[in-house]
Amino acid sequence: MSPKKWLRQASLYVHWPYCEKRCTYCNFNKYISKQVDHEQMKRCLGKEIQSLIYLSGIKEITSIFFGGGTPSLAEPSTLGHVIETVAKEATLADSAEITMEANPTSVEATKLREFKAAGINRLSLGIQALNDRDLKILGREHTVQEALSCLSKAKSLFPGKTSLDLIFGRPFQTLELWQDELHKTANLLADGHVSLYQLTLERGTALFKSVQNGELTVPDTDVTAEMYEMAVQTLKKSGLKRYEASNFARNASAESSHNKSYWEGSQYIGVGPGAHGRFIVQSEGGTAREARIQTLEPKYWMWEVEKRGHATRKAVEQTRQEVMEEILMLGMRTKSGVPNKRWLRFSDDVPLAKIFGGHPMLSDFIQFGLLEFSPERLVATERGLNLIDSLMPTIINILHDYNWKSPRKELSDCMDSKEKIDTG
Ligand code: SF4
Repeated sequence: MSPKKWLRQASLYVHWPYCEKRCTYCNFNKYISKQVDHEQMKRCLGKEIQSLIYLSGIKEITSIFFGGGTPSLAEPSTLGHVIETVAKEATLADSAEITMEANPTSVEATKLREFKAAGINRLSLGIQALNDRDLKILGREHTVQEALSCLSKAKSLFPGKTSLDLIFGRPFQTLELWQDELHKTANLLADGHVSLYQLTLERGTALFKSVQNGELTVPDTDVTAEMYEMAVQTLKKSGLKRYEASNFARNASAESSHNKSYWEGSQYIGVGPGAHGRFIVQSEGGTAREARIQTLEPKYWMWEVEKRGHATRKAVEQTRQEVMEEILMLGMRTKSGVPNKRWLRFSDDVPLAKIFGGHPMLSDFIQFGLLEFSPERLVATERGLNLIDSLMPTIINILHDYNWKSPRKELSDCMDSKEKIDTG
């Protein structure tokens, strides 16, 4: 008999590490290079996918996400090769969501049709702002006009499957300007999906320095909180409902199934420089989930992949506490919260009610209308989702206080029989 379905499945994240130029706010793992060896990158991505699918014992890849960096700078044939490799090494349903992040420059717009032909069926466009002054401050490569023309092309090629990213809390941004931008987004521009990100000032970035030096100022936290609530209301009025704290969709089919797999605590494999993964190494008899990260620098990453098949820099077994914390942190940001059924999969049969039921601190949140709790589910209300970042430390503390007495379950206990998984 076979292991449970969730042990056989994972999503796949593919990191393309190169960018045209450094955005002023960005601290992602990216490299500015005019001399990318596309052939070598393509070969190494394929090889690392083969190795990690084998190691994980995963039989089905449920979705693929190309992130970065700027994956729209890759050659469409590279993405096509990744998709073909996955389909060779595991089951990849024809309907599987395959997303690519893209910058909305005119150069990238001309390649969209080729990306579609290579197998991409969903696009996440980094528009970020709808005014040129702000795009310049953020160090983006595109203008508003370029972004809008790329968006319209994307919508015609990927109808109902084009997502648009916006950043709020930008220097000089006022509530009035943000309201205008939201109206435009919600009523004219958004296809099926919008992702909102609050600008965070990351140490070491050019924007961080400009704010430190007093050259630029950003709105204070009260204003950004108001901006967020304004966005939730405005998007809701035009039919874009919040299904995760930062993500809004017109209907269930527009929701990102790849991101949902993270929020639901599913396994995922990360390939490419600096990619993260979470999976059980079933081929080596592993029983606990590992947090894995691949080598950061593309040059060394490629060298390691060519030498030993993959470039995992660090793989650490997660403790039960760490896994449960992730399940809570991610699940509580979604409109469906953390269902007890999912929780039990990771908690060795300790139900949510045993940890959270009747806890005085949780009762306060419930009384204030911020959380709802039943034996079936712990979930934030609409109001609670607005404040989820400030509620989470208390919820996590309750988890930390729980005394896990039972030993952790072995992987074999999660199987329908004691048979070992065939990873060959
Ligand atoms: S395009 Fe994206 S990854 Fe590249 S520098 Fe800008 S924000 Fe960072």
